[in-house]
Amino acid sequence: MRGKNVYHILSQLFKRQPHQKRKTPKRYFLLLAGLSLISLMTLGGLHHQPVQAFDVTPPQIATSASWQKGSFPVENFQAYTSPYGPRRSPSGSGTEFHRGLDIAAPEGSYIRNWWTGQVISLSDNTACGTSITVQSGEWKHIYCHMKGHVETNNGNTYLIDRDGGLQIWKGQQVLTGNRIGRVGMTGRTTGPHLHWGLKYADQYIDPAIVLREMYKQQTVSRY
Ligand SMILES: [Zn+2]
Repeated sequence: MRGKNVYHILSQLFKRQPHQKRKTPKRYFLLLAGLSLISLMTLGGLHHQPVQAFDVTPPQIATSASWQKGSFPVENFQAYTSPYGPRRSPSGSGTEFHRGLDIAAPEGSYIRNWWTGQVISLSDNTACGTSITVQSGEWKHIYCHMKGHVETNNGNTYLIDRDGGLQIWKGQQVLTGNRIGRVGMTGRTTGPHLHWGLKYADQYIDPAIVLREMYKQQTVSRY
């Protein structure tokens, strides 16, 4: 049943391509309008940066099927230690549904943002430990068990990992491949690993499917 769901979601992604194409002229129009505006402002001696928003185009993710643009989410990969799906609970008896892929890496290894997007949530008080959620169009990617903790200052929330030299703000844009954290042991975990969760349209999907697609395309694109 769940497997069927995943393929349904993926087929939806590819079906959405024509929809994206219809939107493209509008985006080019906006881009051209923005560029014209900059030219006018530059001519006028003004040096604003009014089109920074064009640097980030998360809707592409759900429509272009250009998986090769994604970043593997962690440095110093060691092993996949627990797949997505039902499993025996690691901390007791009974079964649970594991909503992510566990990727082991030495403690302190940097975590890399899978796809350009916006940091929509930071947390450090659940089983997920110190965590960050990035939204890229319809996708949400969740990173758990990181080092550091979450602080709030003057109403602004940020994740701070001083030894890793990282400070990530809620609401900030992060680019593909940006270092957004480090592998730690926070939350419910028995060893250093990244728990990587992936949602499309608010439904969890198996991250391994996306990684396989990414590598299939990356391999093909080399030739
Ligand atoms: Zn996990």
